[in-house]
Amino acid sequence: MPGDAKDFEPDYSWYDPSNNDEEKIRGKTGPPRVPKKIVPCRICQEQFGRVTLTFVYCATCKHAFCEGVHGSFSVIAQRTPGKCVICHLGKDWNSLRRS
Ligand SMILES: [Zn+2]
Ligand SMILES: [Zn+2]
Repeated sequence: MPGDAKDFEPDYSWYDPSNNDEEKIRGKTGPPRVPKKIVPCRICQEQFGRVTLTFVYCATCKHAFCEGVHGSFSVIAQRTPGKCVICHLGKDWNSLRRS
């Protein structure tokens, strides 16, 4: 893991499709795969109201997820696309949201 959570700037806001988690974590400019921010796992946030900061995101839906619990493998360490459990199960993020 590149550094500790404390090395990154946390962003506690909710998922924003116009500035998705990939863009938040990697930044819109700069070298790829170097995290800029950490954001809450969206599944923890949506389902449990819990904040689990992460810099891993799903390559398919661009939502952040906590590695090992709500998705698998690190984009950073293994240089392969991550996948959240929502995409893995073929579910829709809208079905998770209560609003
Ligand atoms: Zn989670
Ligand atoms: Zn996904």
